[in-house]
Amino acid sequence: MLHQQNLTVNAAGHLALAGVDVLDLAREYGTPLYVLDEDMVRERMELYVAAAREHLPAGSRPYYASKALCCKALCRMAGEEGMGLDVVSSGELYTALAAGADPADICFHGNAKTEADLRYAITERVGLIAADGEEELLRIVRLAGELGARARVLLRVTPGIDPHTFAAVNTGVVDVKFGVPIPGGQALAVTERALGLENVDLAGFHCHIGSQIFDAGPFLLETDVMTAFLAQVRERTGYTASVLDLGGGFAVAYEETDAAPDCAGMIRAIGQRLLERCREYDYPAPAVLLEPGRGIVAAAGVTLYTVQNVKRVPGGACYAALDGGMGDNPRYALYGARHSAVVADRAGEAPDCSVTLAGRCCESGDLIGENVAIQTPRTGDTVAVLTTGAYNYSMASNYNRVPRPPIAALRGGKARLIVRRETVEDVAAYDL
Ligand SMILES: *Cc1c(COP(=O)(O)O)cnc(C)c1O
Repeated sequence: MLHQQNLTVNAAGHLALAGVDVLDLAREYGTPLYVLDEDMVRERMELYVAAAREHLPAGSRPYYASKALCCKALCRMAGEEGMGLDVVSSGELYTALAAGADPADICFHGNAKTEADLRYAITERVGLIAADGEEELLRIVRLAGELGARARVLLRVTPGIDPHTFAAVNTGVVDVKFGVPIPGGQALAVTERALGLENVDLAGFHCHIGSQIFDAGPFLLETDVMTAFLAQVRERTGYTASVLDLGGGFAVAYEETDAAPDCAGMIRAIGQRLLERCREYDYPAPAVLLEPGRGIVAAAGVTLYTVQNVKRVPGGACYAALDGGMGDNPRYALYGARHSAVVADRAGEAPDCSVTLAGRCCESGDLIGENVAIQTPRTGDTVAVLTTGAYNYSMASNYNRVPRPPIAALRGGKARLIVRRETVEDVAAYDL
Protein backbone atom coordinates (compact mmCIF):
# COMPACT_ATOMS: atom_id res chain seq x y z
CA MET A 1 0.00 0.00 0.00
CA LEU A 2 2.78 2.45 0.90
CA HIS A 3 4.61 2.03 -2.38
CA GLN A 4 6.13 5.51 -2.20
CA GLN A 5 9.52 5.01 -0.59
CA ASN A 6 9.21 8.25 1.39
CA LEU A 7 6.10 7.05 3.26
CA THR A 8 6.23 5.31 6.63
CA VAL A 9 3.97 4.62 9.58
CA ASN A 10 5.18 6.28 12.79
CA ALA A 11 4.91 5.08 16.40
CA ALA A 12 1.46 6.68 16.72
CA GLY A 13 0.26 4.64 13.73
CA HIS A 14 0.01 7.78 11.61
CA LEU A 15 1.20 8.21 8.07
CA ALA A 16 4.51 10.07 7.79
CA LEU A 17 5.95 11.64 4.64
CA ALA A 18 9.74 12.03 4.75
CA GLY A 19 9.47 11.34 8.48
CA VAL A 20 6.92 14.11 9.13
CA ASP A 21 3.55 13.12 10.64
CA VAL A 22 1.00 14.24 8.07
CA LEU A 23 -1.66 14.79 10.77
CA ASP A 24 0.57 17.52 12.21
CA LEU A 25 0.75 19.10 8.75
CA ALA A 26 -3.03 18.90 8.33
CA ARG A 27 -3.46 20.58 11.73
CA GLU A 28 -0.92 23.29 11.00
CA TYR A 29 -1.94 24.20 7.44
CA GLY A 30 -5.50 22.87 7.17
CA THR A 31 -6.90 20.64 4.43
CA PRO A 32 -7.01 20.09 1.55
CA LEU A 33 -3.24 20.37 1.49
CA TYR A 34 -0.65 19.41 -1.08
CA VAL A 35 2.54 18.19 0.59
CA LEU A 36 5.76 17.87 -1.35
CA ASP A 37 8.88 16.01 -0.19
CA GLU A 38 11.43 18.53 -1.41
CA ASP A 39 14.37 16.28 -0.54
CA MET A 40 12.97 13.67 -2.91
CA VAL A 41 12.34 16.24 -5.66
CA ARG A 42 15.97 17.32 -5.43
CA GLU A 43 17.19 13.70 -5.38
CA ARG A 44 15.19 12.95 -8.51
CA MET A 45 16.58 16.04 -10.23
CA GLU A 46 20.12 15.02 -9.28
CA LEU A 47 19.49 11.52 -10.58
CA TYR A 48 18.48 12.75 -14.04
CA VAL A 49 21.30 15.31 -14.17
CA ALA A 50 23.89 12.69 -13.15
CA ALA A 51 22.53 10.07 -15.57
CA ALA A 52 22.62 12.57 -18.45
CA ARG A 53 26.17 13.57 -17.59
CA GLU A 54 27.31 9.98 -17.24
CA HIS A 55 25.52 8.24 -20.09
CA LEU A 56 24.78 10.84 -22.77
CA PRO A 57 27.05 12.86 -25.10
CA ALA A 58 28.69 16.10 -23.95
CA GLY A 59 26.26 18.99 -23.47
CA SER A 60 23.33 16.66 -22.74
CA ARG A 61 20.94 17.76 -20.03
CA PRO A 62 17.50 17.16 -18.57
CA TYR A 63 14.93 19.97 -18.66
CA TYR A 64 12.18 19.86 -16.05
CA ALA A 65 8.78 19.87 -17.80
CA SER A 66 7.37 22.56 -15.55
CA LYS A 67 3.75 21.84 -16.56
CA ALA A 68 3.89 18.90 -14.10
CA LEU A 69 4.09 21.32 -11.18
CA CYS A 70 4.88 24.94 -11.89
CA CYS A 71 5.55 27.47 -9.16
CA LYS A 72 8.53 29.66 -8.36
CA ALA A 73 9.94 27.27 -5.75
CA LEU A 74 10.05 24.38 -8.22
CA CYS A 75 11.75 26.54 -10.86
CA ARG A 76 14.36 27.56 -8.29
CA MET A 77 14.97 23.91 -7.31
CA ALA A 78 15.46 22.96 -10.96
CA GLY A 79 18.01 25.74 -11.40
CA GLU A 80 19.86 24.85 -8.20
CA GLU A 81 20.03 21.18 -9.18
CA GLY A 82 21.32 21.94 -12.68
CA MET A 83 18.22 21.26 -14.76
CA GLY A 84 16.90 23.38 -17.59
CA LEU A 85 13.20 24.31 -17.72
CA ASP A 86 10.51 23.56 -20.28
CA VAL A 87 7.70 26.07 -20.45
CA VAL A 88 4.60 26.11 -22.64
CA SER A 89 3.00 29.48 -21.99
CA SER A 90 3.76 33.06 -21.04
CA GLY A 91 2.57 32.18 -17.53
CA GLU A 92 5.10 29.39 -17.13
CA LEU A 93 7.83 31.56 -18.69
CA TYR A 94 6.98 34.43 -16.35
CA THR A 95 7.11 32.09 -13.35
CA ALA A 96 10.51 30.74 -14.39
CA LEU A 97 11.98 34.21 -14.95
CA ALA A 98 10.44 35.54 -11.74
CA ALA A 99 12.14 32.66 -9.93
CA GLY A 100 15.46 33.84 -11.33
CA ALA A 101 15.91 31.22 -14.07
CA ASP A 102 18.53 32.01 -16.70
CA PRO A 103 16.63 32.46 -20.02
CA ALA A 104 19.41 30.50 -21.73
CA ASP A 105 18.29 27.43 -19.72
CA ILE A 106 14.67 27.64 -20.90
CA CYS A 107 13.00 25.84 -23.79
CA PHE A 108 9.62 27.18 -24.96
CA HIS A 109 7.24 24.49 -26.26
CA GLY A 110 3.64 24.32 -27.41
CA ASN A 111 1.59 23.67 -30.51
CA ALA A 112 -0.35 26.94 -30.36
CA LYS A 113 1.97 29.61 -29.07
CA THR A 114 0.40 33.01 -29.43
CA GLU A 115 2.10 35.98 -30.98
CA ALA A 116 2.42 37.41 -27.46
CA ASP A 117 4.06 34.16 -26.22
CA LEU A 118 6.60 34.23 -29.04
CA ARG A 119 7.37 37.93 -28.61
CA TYR A 120 7.94 37.38 -24.89
CA ALA A 121 10.18 34.34 -25.49
CA ILE A 122 12.22 36.06 -28.21
CA THR A 123 12.55 39.31 -26.25
CA GLU A 124 13.75 37.44 -23.17
CA ARG A 125 16.24 35.48 -25.35
CA VAL A 126 15.14 32.03 -24.21
CA GLY A 127 17.70 29.38 -25.12
CA LEU A 128 15.42 27.33 -27.37
CA ILE A 129 12.01 27.62 -28.97
CA ALA A 130 10.51 24.36 -30.22
CA ALA A 131 8.65 25.30 -33.41
CA ASP A 132 5.66 23.10 -34.07
CA GLY A 133 5.72 23.43 -37.87
CA GLU A 134 6.41 25.56 -40.90
CA GLU A 135 3.85 28.27 -40.22
CA GLU A 136 5.21 28.83 -36.75
CA LEU A 137 8.79 28.91 -38.04
CA LEU A 138 7.82 31.68 -40.42
CA ARG A 139 6.11 33.55 -37.62
CA ILE A 140 9.26 33.28 -35.48
CA VAL A 141 11.31 34.58 -38.40
CA ARG A 142 9.03 37.60 -38.76
CA LEU A 143 8.88 38.37 -35.02
CA ALA A 144 12.63 37.92 -34.51
CA GLY A 145 13.16 40.30 -37.43
CA GLU A 146 10.80 42.86 -35.89
CA LEU A 147 12.49 42.53 -32.52
CA GLY A 148 16.00 42.66 -33.95
CA ALA A 149 16.87 39.27 -32.45
CA ARG A 150 17.82 35.80 -33.56
CA ALA A 151 15.92 32.78 -32.28
CA ARG A 152 17.51 29.41 -31.64
CA VAL A 153 14.92 26.82 -32.58
CA LEU A 154 14.21 23.12 -32.53
CA LEU A 155 11.75 21.68 -35.02
CA ARG A 156 9.21 19.40 -33.35
CA VAL A 157 8.79 16.23 -35.36
CA THR A 158 6.60 13.16 -34.87
CA PRO A 159 8.59 9.95 -35.20
CA GLY A 160 5.49 7.74 -35.47
CA ILE A 161 5.98 5.55 -32.41
CA ASP A 162 3.32 4.10 -30.17
CA PRO A 163 5.01 4.01 -26.75
CA HIS A 164 2.61 1.39 -25.44
CA THR A 165 2.96 -1.18 -28.21
CA PHE A 166 6.70 -0.45 -28.74
CA ALA A 167 5.97 -0.24 -32.46
CA ALA A 168 6.83 2.22 -35.18
CA VAL A 169 3.55 3.08 -36.84
CA ASN A 170 2.95 5.50 -39.64
CA THR A 171 -0.69 6.25 -39.03
CA GLY A 172 -2.60 7.35 -35.98
CA VAL A 173 0.34 8.36 -33.84
CA VAL A 174 1.42 10.95 -36.39
CA ASP A 175 -2.14 12.22 -36.83
CA VAL A 176 -1.87 14.37 -33.71
CA LYS A 177 -1.89 18.08 -32.97
CA PHE A 178 1.85 18.17 -32.18
CA GLY A 179 4.75 18.35 -34.60
CA VAL A 180 5.50 17.47 -38.19
CA PRO A 181 5.54 13.78 -39.19
CA ILE A 182 8.77 12.08 -40.25
CA PRO A 183 6.92 9.24 -42.01
CA GLY A 184 5.82 10.55 -45.39
CA GLY A 185 8.60 13.15 -45.62
CA GLN A 186 6.93 16.31 -44.28
CA ALA A 187 9.52 16.75 -41.51
CA LEU A 188 12.33 16.63 -44.07
CA ALA A 189 10.59 19.16 -46.30
CA VAL A 190 10.06 21.60 -43.40
CA THR A 191 13.70 21.15 -42.34
CA GLU A 192 14.87 22.06 -45.84
CA ARG A 193 12.71 25.15 -45.63
CA ALA A 194 13.99 26.03 -42.13
CA LEU A 195 17.62 25.95 -43.23
CA GLY A 196 17.02 28.75 -45.71
CA LEU A 197 15.34 31.11 -43.23
CA GLU A 198 16.77 34.31 -41.77
CA ASN A 199 16.74 35.27 -38.09
CA VAL A 200 16.54 31.66 -36.88
CA ASP A 201 19.23 29.11 -36.13
CA LEU A 202 18.05 25.51 -36.30
CA ALA A 203 19.76 23.81 -33.33
CA GLY A 204 18.15 20.43 -33.97
CA PHE A 205 14.96 18.48 -33.44
CA HIS A 206 12.46 17.73 -30.72
CA CYS A 207 10.07 14.85 -30.24
CA HIS A 208 8.03 13.44 -27.36
CA ILE A 209 6.43 10.03 -27.74
CA GLY A 210 4.11 9.92 -24.73
CA SER A 211 3.92 9.39 -20.99
CA GLN A 212 4.17 6.57 -18.47
CA ILE A 213 6.95 4.75 -20.34
CA PHE A 214 8.20 2.00 -18.02
CA ASP A 215 10.82 0.46 -20.25
CA ALA A 216 13.69 1.67 -22.45
CA GLY A 217 12.14 -0.05 -25.52
CA PRO A 218 10.09 2.89 -26.85
CA PHE A 219 12.97 5.32 -26.21
CA LEU A 220 15.36 3.07 -28.15
CA LEU A 221 12.97 2.95 -31.07
CA GLU A 222 12.66 6.72 -30.84
CA THR A 223 16.48 6.99 -30.89
CA ASP A 224 16.60 4.73 -33.97
CA VAL A 225 13.99 6.74 -35.87
CA MET A 226 15.49 10.10 -34.89
CA THR A 227 19.09 9.19 -35.75
CA ALA A 228 17.96 7.76 -39.11
CA PHE A 229 16.15 11.06 -39.69
CA LEU A 230 19.27 13.08 -38.75
CA ALA A 231 21.32 11.03 -41.22
CA GLN A 232 18.69 11.51 -43.93
CA VAL A 233 18.58 15.27 -43.33
CA ARG A 234 22.37 15.48 -43.55
CA GLU A 235 22.41 13.48 -46.76
CA ARG A 236 19.81 15.74 -48.38
CA THR A 237 20.94 19.10 -47.05
CA GLY A 238 24.42 18.79 -45.54
CA TYR A 239 22.99 20.01 -42.20
CA THR A 240 24.23 18.43 -38.95
CA ALA A 241 22.09 18.87 -35.83
CA SER A 242 23.78 19.75 -32.55
CA VAL A 243 20.73 19.06 -30.32
CA LEU A 244 18.39 16.08 -30.17
CA ASP A 245 15.54 16.52 -27.69
CA LEU A 246 13.92 13.16 -26.94
CA GLY A 247 11.16 14.52 -24.72
CA GLY A 248 9.84 13.20 -21.41
CA GLY A 249 7.49 10.44 -20.36
CA PHE A 250 9.56 8.54 -17.79
CA ALA A 251 7.03 6.47 -15.86
CA VAL A 252 6.00 6.76 -12.23
CA ALA A 253 4.58 3.97 -10.03
CA TYR A 254 1.13 5.31 -9.14
CA GLU A 255 -0.10 2.10 -7.53
CA GLU A 256 1.42 -0.74 -5.60
CA THR A 257 1.03 -3.02 -8.62
CA ASP A 258 3.11 -0.70 -10.84
CA ALA A 259 6.75 -1.65 -11.31
CA ALA A 260 9.31 0.90 -10.08
CA PRO A 261 10.84 2.27 -13.29
CA ASP A 262 14.63 2.45 -13.58
CA CYS A 263 15.13 5.91 -15.11
CA ALA A 264 18.92 5.93 -14.91
CA GLY A 265 18.95 2.53 -16.62
CA MET A 266 16.69 3.83 -19.39
CA ILE A 267 18.97 6.84 -19.90
CA ARG A 268 22.04 4.57 -20.02
CA ALA A 269 20.33 2.43 -22.68
CA ILE A 270 19.39 5.54 -24.71
CA GLY A 271 23.00 6.74 -24.57
CA GLN A 272 24.40 3.41 -25.73
CA ARG A 273 21.93 3.16 -28.61
CA LEU A 274 22.58 6.75 -29.66
CA LEU A 275 26.35 6.21 -29.80
CA GLU A 276 25.91 2.96 -31.77
CA ARG A 277 23.70 4.67 -34.33
CA CYS A 278 25.96 7.73 -34.55
CA ARG A 279 28.92 5.45 -35.26
CA GLU A 280 26.94 3.59 -37.90
CA TYR A 281 25.99 6.82 -39.65
CA ASP A 282 29.36 8.43 -38.91
CA TYR A 283 27.38 11.30 -37.32
CA PRO A 284 28.80 13.55 -34.57
CA ALA A 285 26.84 12.69 -31.39
CA PRO A 286 24.36 15.50 -30.66
CA ALA A 287 23.67 16.80 -27.16
CA VAL A 288 20.57 14.98 -25.91
CA LEU A 289 17.88 16.85 -24.02
CA LEU A 290 15.35 14.96 -21.89
CA GLU A 291 12.17 16.42 -20.42
CA PRO A 292 11.01 14.53 -17.34
CA GLY A 293 7.98 16.04 -15.63
CA ARG A 294 6.09 13.52 -13.49
CA GLY A 295 9.31 11.54 -13.03
CA ILE A 296 10.64 14.42 -10.91
CA VAL A 297 7.65 15.39 -8.78
CA ALA A 298 4.83 12.81 -8.81
CA ALA A 299 6.14 10.44 -6.14
CA ALA A 300 7.27 13.33 -3.95
CA GLY A 301 3.71 14.51 -3.38
CA VAL A 302 0.65 13.52 -1.38
CA THR A 303 -2.61 15.39 -0.91
CA LEU A 304 -4.33 15.49 2.47
CA TYR A 305 -8.12 15.75 2.78
CA THR A 306 -10.56 15.64 5.68
CA VAL A 307 -13.46 13.20 5.39
CA GLN A 308 -16.67 15.25 5.64
CA ASN A 309 -19.06 12.32 5.74
CA VAL A 310 -19.28 8.63 4.97
CA LYS A 311 -22.25 6.86 3.50
CA ARG A 312 -23.06 3.41 2.23
CA VAL A 313 -25.58 3.10 -0.56
CA PRO A 314 -27.57 -0.14 -0.05
CA GLY A 315 -26.35 -2.51 -2.75
CA GLY A 316 -23.87 0.16 -3.88
CA ALA A 317 -20.57 1.68 -2.94
CA CYS A 318 -19.21 3.15 0.27
CA TYR A 319 -18.60 6.86 -0.31
CA ALA A 320 -16.15 8.97 1.63
CA ALA A 321 -16.84 12.61 0.78
CA LEU A 322 -13.71 14.78 0.92
CA ASP A 323 -13.17 18.52 1.31
CA GLY A 324 -11.43 18.59 -2.10
CA GLY A 325 -11.85 16.74 -5.37
CA MET A 326 -11.62 17.40 -9.08
CA GLY A 327 -10.81 21.03 -8.38
CA ASP A 328 -7.44 20.05 -6.90
CA ASN A 329 -7.00 16.66 -8.59
CA PRO A 330 -8.84 16.31 -11.92
CA ARG A 331 -6.84 13.25 -13.02
CA TYR A 332 -9.51 10.60 -12.36
CA ALA A 333 -12.31 12.70 -13.83
CA LEU A 334 -10.16 13.58 -16.84
CA TYR A 335 -8.59 10.27 -17.75
CA GLY A 336 -9.43 7.66 -15.16
CA ALA A 337 -5.97 7.90 -13.56
CA ARG A 338 -5.71 5.78 -10.41
CA HIS A 339 -4.05 6.82 -7.16
CA SER A 340 -3.60 4.82 -3.96
CA ALA A 341 -4.92 6.30 -0.71
CA VAL A 342 -4.46 5.81 3.02
CA VAL A 343 -6.42 6.85 6.12
CA ALA A 344 -3.52 8.72 7.67
CA ASP A 345 -4.90 8.34 11.24
CA ARG A 346 -4.74 4.51 11.02
CA ALA A 347 -2.06 4.00 8.40
CA GLY A 348 -0.66 0.98 10.25
CA GLU A 349 -3.88 -0.99 9.84
CA ALA A 350 -4.48 -3.13 6.78
CA PRO A 351 -6.93 -1.72 4.23
CA ASP A 352 -10.26 -3.43 4.92
CA CYS A 353 -12.65 -1.45 2.77
CA SER A 354 -13.19 -0.58 -0.87
CA VAL A 355 -14.40 3.00 -1.16
CA THR A 356 -15.29 5.67 -3.63
CA LEU A 357 -13.42 8.84 -2.72
CA ALA A 358 -15.85 11.57 -3.69
CA GLY A 359 -15.06 15.23 -4.22
CA ARG A 360 -17.13 18.20 -3.13
CA CYS A 361 -18.10 19.61 -6.54
CA CYS A 362 -21.60 19.43 -8.04
CA GLU A 363 -20.68 16.79 -10.60
CA SER A 364 -21.31 13.04 -10.21
CA GLY A 365 -18.01 12.50 -12.02
CA ASP A 366 -16.13 14.45 -9.35
CA LEU A 367 -14.32 11.47 -7.87
CA ILE A 368 -10.72 10.97 -6.78
CA GLY A 369 -11.07 7.23 -7.27
CA GLU A 370 -13.41 4.24 -7.17
CA ASN A 371 -12.79 0.84 -5.59
CA VAL A 372 -9.92 2.33 -3.60
CA ALA A 373 -8.60 -0.16 -1.02
CA ILE A 374 -8.33 1.76 2.23
CA GLN A 375 -8.85 1.52 6.01
CA THR A 376 -12.56 1.97 6.82
CA PRO A 377 -12.94 5.77 6.73
CA ARG A 378 -14.72 7.79 9.42
CA THR A 379 -15.90 11.37 9.38
CA GLY A 380 -13.06 13.62 10.51
CA ASP A 381 -10.31 11.27 9.33
CA THR A 382 -7.44 12.61 7.27
CA VAL A 383 -7.16 10.79 3.97
CA ALA A 384 -3.85 10.95 2.10
CA VAL A 385 -4.05 10.47 -1.64
CA LEU A 386 -0.64 9.32 -2.85
CA THR A 387 1.64 10.20 -5.76
CA THR A 388 -0.05 13.53 -6.44
CA GLY A 389 3.04 15.71 -6.96
CA ALA A 390 2.49 15.95 -10.73
CA TYR A 391 -0.51 17.25 -12.69
CA ASN A 392 -2.56 18.02 -9.58
CA TYR A 393 -1.80 21.58 -8.48
CA SER A 394 -0.82 22.46 -12.06
CA MET A 395 -4.21 21.29 -13.36
CA ALA A 396 -6.28 22.62 -10.46
CA SER A 397 -9.28 24.88 -11.00
CA ASN A 398 -11.65 27.01 -8.97
CA TYR A 399 -14.73 25.06 -10.04
CA ASN A 400 -17.62 25.85 -7.69
CA ARG A 401 -15.45 28.77 -6.56
CA VAL A 402 -13.45 26.53 -4.27
CA PRO A 403 -10.09 28.15 -3.44
CA ARG A 404 -7.04 26.10 -4.46
CA PRO A 405 -5.07 24.42 -1.64
CA PRO A 406 -1.58 25.51 -0.60
CA ILE A 407 1.61 23.49 -1.09
CA ALA A 408 3.79 22.69 1.92
CA ALA A 409 7.32 21.52 1.11
CA LEU A 410 9.34 19.30 3.46
CA ARG A 411 13.07 19.72 3.60
CA GLY A 412 15.28 18.09 6.22
CA GLY A 413 12.18 17.24 8.26
CA LYS A 414 10.94 20.86 8.31
CA ALA A 415 7.82 22.15 6.59
CA ARG A 416 7.31 25.49 4.87
CA LEU A 417 4.67 26.81 2.49
CA ILE A 418 5.83 27.30 -1.09
CA VAL A 419 2.34 28.25 -2.34
CA ARG A 420 -0.15 29.85 0.05
CA ARG A 421 -3.81 28.86 0.32
CA GLU A 422 -6.18 30.82 -1.89
CA THR A 423 -8.96 32.69 -0.16
CA VAL A 424 -12.53 33.28 -1.28
CA GLU A 425 -11.44 36.88 -1.90
CA ASP A 426 -8.73 35.58 -4.27
CA VAL A 427 -11.37 33.60 -6.10
CA ALA A 428 -13.52 36.71 -6.60
CA ALA A 429 -10.58 39.06 -7.17
CA TYR A 430 -11.07 39.42 -10.93
CA ASP A 431 -14.82 40.04 -10.84
CA LEU A 432 -15.76 43.56 -11.97
C1 LIG B 1 4.05 16.45 -21.09
C2 LIG B 1 5.36 16.59 -21.73
C3 LIG B 1 6.53 16.26 -21.03
C4 LIG B 1 6.53 15.65 -19.65
O1 LIG B 1 5.83 14.46 -19.61
P1 LIG B 1 5.95 13.53 -18.27
O2 LIG B 1 5.11 12.36 -18.58
O3 LIG B 1 5.43 14.34 -17.15
O4 LIG B 1 7.41 13.22 -18.13
C5 LIG B 1 7.73 16.50 -21.64
N1 LIG B 1 7.80 17.04 -22.87
C6 LIG B 1 6.70 17.38 -23.58
C7 LIG B 1 6.86 17.98 -24.92
C8 LIG B 1 5.45 17.15 -23.05
O5 LIG B 1 4.36 17.46 -23.75
